[in-house]
Amino acid sequence: MDLVPTEAQLSACVTCGLCLPHCPTFRLTGDEVASPRGRIAAMGAVAAGLVPSDETYAGMMSFCLQCRACEAACPSHVPFGQMMEGARARLAKDQPSWRGRLRRFLVGRVLNMKWLLALVTSSIGLVQRLGVMRLLPKQVRLARGLRPQRIFPHTVVGVHDNAPAEPAGSVALLAGCIMDEWFPEVHDATRGVLQMAGLEVHSPESQQCCGALAAHEGGAGDAQRMAARNVGAFAGFDFIVADAAGCSAHLKDYAEWAKDGSSVAERTKDVTELVAELIGAGRLPSLDDTGEQVAVHDPCHLRHAQGIVNEPRAIVRAAGYTPVEIDPDGLCCGAAGLYMVYEHDTAEELGIMKAAQIRGAGPTTVVSANSGCEIQLRAHLDNGYRVLHPIELYWEALNV
Ligand code: SF4
Ligand code: SF4
Repeated sequence: MDLVPTEAQLSACVTCGLCLPHCPTFRLTGDEVASPRGRIAAMGAVAAGLVPSDETYAGMMSFCLQCRACEAACPSHVPFGQMMEGARARLAKDQPSWRGRLRRFLVGRVLNMKWLLALVTSSIGLVQRLGVMRLLPKQVRLARGLRPQRIFPHTVVGVHDNAPAEPAGSVALLAGCIMDEWFPEVHDATRGVLQMAGLEVHSPESQQCCGALAAHEGGAGDAQRMAARNVGAFAGFDFIVADAAGCSAHLKDYAEWAKDGSSVAERTKDVTELVAELIGAGRLPSLDDTGEQVAVHDPCHLRHAQGIVNEPRAIVRAAGYTPVEIDPDGLCCGAAGLYMVYEHDTAEELGIMKAAQIRGAGPTTVVSANSGCEIQLRAHLDNGYRVLHPIELYWEALNV
């Protein structure tokens, strides 16, 4: 599978520049080389052999958040996300730095080591309980964006309870990598809501991490291996549901990553998409208005990569709250997977901007349908704010 940006993809860019104001790194720097158009020009120059695939080129690519805001704004439908994944896969071969290798090892291998994730989770849990977070380096302190951690491991894999007597359909729930350990409440809410709608929810044991982070880091081989495994694990289910927008966006791109990957892509729904549909069809209730407001943060991989905007707002309304907008442009919060660690200063700047937008909007409850964004928002908002997934808000309201 050749992931290098193709000539057709490169020539689709007509250099109009309409994407530039939507690009967070261009907005921060005003620099063409930090813009989508500049990056596409560099990809083209490397592909044509006009410039080397060297450290300067690697730096240009690695500064991109892969937020795909440029893709959503582009009138020529340039598939920027796919091109950046291809460019990074090529760089992994051309510029095999130890940092890059370590990042790819982390997202391609470690994220599938459940025992190690459980150990890290327990350690963070201990550090949080001992109250010594401020002693950690600032990147590690992003862990303060995690909820108080459990000491004992947790998994949704293999859990199959409360099955409806006559299910209206079957769902395979993606357990994910960090979702399973760090966001078990989101999985619980997803299962509860879908079961309430009469769906049977499984989380097959043979599944692995979706491979999104590996694809973003240029680990094409690992991403393909994980996709091939999941194509088998998710066979036979009516829907495949992910409750982190980065994962649902990647599952919808599986046609690029695995033979028969389109069979997964066609059945995948982000949980906000499926639940909003079920509410609209009257299969899930809409609760009375509480008169309270909830701010809605749009994760890039929900809004830009999947075009899902109305659905989280519909869920907030069905939970009895009024959704409040925080940012009409949907600018990236700076999380972007490992970006918040290796491009820490830029991620920090974007996180501070996003937190200011939230403070300006008013409500102190914020929903965001992606785990990385939740971590970033919690890390930049004070303790008076509550950040949760829209499905948790809805499940909580149903159970009051
Ligand atoms: S990526 Fe699209 S919007 Fe941006 S310069 Fe190229 S054609 Fe224009
Ligand atoms: S993916 Fe995001 S950061 Fe990268 S070029 Fe596009 S808009 Fe800019």
